[in-house]
Amino acid sequence: MTNDYEDVCSICHRTESVAGKMLKMTDSLCICMDCLQKSSDMINQSPYKDMLGMDPATLSAMFPGLTPDAGVNATVTEGQLEKHEEKNEGLITGDEKTEKALKSDEETKEDKKEDKRDDKPQGPRGTFFLNLNDLMGQSFNPRTKIKKRNPDEKKEPVIKLKDIPAPHKLKAKLDEYVIGQEEAKKILSVAVYNHYKRVATDTMDEIEIEKSNILMLGPTGCGKTYLVKTLVRLLDVPLAIADATALTEAGYIGDDIESVVSKLLAAADNDVDKAECGIIFVDEIDKLAKKPNTNHRDVSGESVQQGMLKLLEGAEIEVPVGATSKNAMVPMTTVNTRNILFICGGAFPDLEEIIKSRLTKQAGIGFNSDLKDKYDKDKTLLHKVTTEDIKKYGMIPEFVGRLPIICPLDSLDEDALVAILKEPKNAILKQYQKLLELDEVKLIFDDSALRAIAKKAKEKDTGARALRAIIEEFMLDIMYEIPKDDNIGTVTITGDYIEGKGGPIVEIRS
Ligand code: ADP
Repeated sequence: MTNDYEDVCSICHRTESVAGKMLKMTDSLCICMDCLQKSSDMINQSPYKDMLGMDPATLSAMFPGLTPDAGVNATVTEGQLEKHEEKNEGLITGDEKTEKALKSDEETKEDKKEDKRDDKPQGPRGTFFLNLNDLMGQSFNPRTKIKKRNPDEKKEPVIKLKDIPAPHKLKAKLDEYVIGQEEAKKILSVAVYNHYKRVATDTMDEIEIEKSNILMLGPTGCGKTYLVKTLVRLLDVPLAIADATALTEAGYIGDDIESVVSKLLAAADNDVDKAECGIIFVDEIDKLAKKPNTNHRDVSGESVQQGMLKLLEGAEIEVPVGATSKNAMVPMTTVNTRNILFICGGAFPDLEEIIKSRLTKQAGIGFNSDLKDKYDKDKTLLHKVTTEDIKKYGMIPEFVGRLPIICPLDSLDEDALVAILKEPKNAILKQYQKLLELDEVKLIFDDSALRAIAKKAKEKDTGARALRAIIEEFMLDIMYEIPKDDNIGTVTITGDYIEGKGGPIVEIRS
């Protein structure tokens, strides 16, 4: 595994491919030739340079590219050490300093020198070695290493045209997991298919296909994240899910906007080529809407929208590896977002009002004017959304312009919730049935039970998210009691049990 990853200079944090050959001290400590040269130049220019006797023969044997007077192993004679200690007690090494702090006051200076000789056994008498390994006590973390790129190797495309399933196949697969949301599934399948066609072919006869990022609109718990996750599983590409509310403009408390790209890189095992064909899902995008009537700087709203523009469009982004913010301690790499598909999702709570007022305004003019309340009960209002409505909601025009595909989702009604309980491939009921099957017990939910669960979930107004919580609540007793009695063969959950009016029907094994 180590061979697949690049070394990173512990001083300048450049990777092997950028900085060139590295001097590898341990797995966790590497220094590039530039930094090594600079450090030795600095030592030579320092007022203490007279104290440091270099060993040019060893050094030039170790690093042929280095000038003979440079080095890391500095030797100091006893007399120089004494003189230096009088001048400044703490300047030798961090190591020596700690040692001294630990020694008691009664110890003589003579003893100190003895100890130093004992602790550094490699050096001849009267010398010590400045051991750079001691300075790097941190544990080695392979996640902060970047996968090597070989410029000579012919680059195999990560995604091949023949591997991309056609939209109808993608939709059929989505149908197995996601209930309803027909239009959304269709829009997503086509958009993703076109996107990866564009990635796989790169250009088509000079007609460059533009990137088509997606904006998903729909109430909470209606399956936005679930759709994206399922799609990614089918395509086998890396996915990063980020929450827009955690993002702030660079320099403020919160995650940098570019941290979403670092997340994707981590999801792709720090393989830049793989990450560059991934998908980034930014949830809660509606929370970035411009706040009306504010006269202070909006660092977590409008500024984040501004900051995301270049990511959405496609740019070379310098990202930290294995961290969410740039700092001196993390290595950096460059990721091009040109082929990364961005899907933004949000509930946009009052958007329907905006659509309604636009539609009533249009319909209220002229002889054929409609009634004012015509759209009040329209369940498909969200499907009539236009970019103008989203702009009115508070998203800046440049941002909306970079998300050309709008994908509205429906809120889930009781029938859909019942279907979600039992139909998907990994439906919640199937999961519980499987669990009890391991105890050789058959679990049955009758129709009234499913209706009652769906009704309770609908009241909570959190979409399908509420289903699991409700089931978990009443399954607790069943999961606790059933393993007690080996004679139980079948348990039937009824609507009465869900509503607290009775218990489950338990049948004994025949
Ligand atoms: P949101 O729209 O807020 O992102 P999620 O996608 O996270 O909602 O949905 C929460 C959970 O509800 C999912 O993990 C999934 O199990 C279930 N769910 C939501 N919508 C559907 C659906 N249409 N079909 C099947 N399951 C769904």
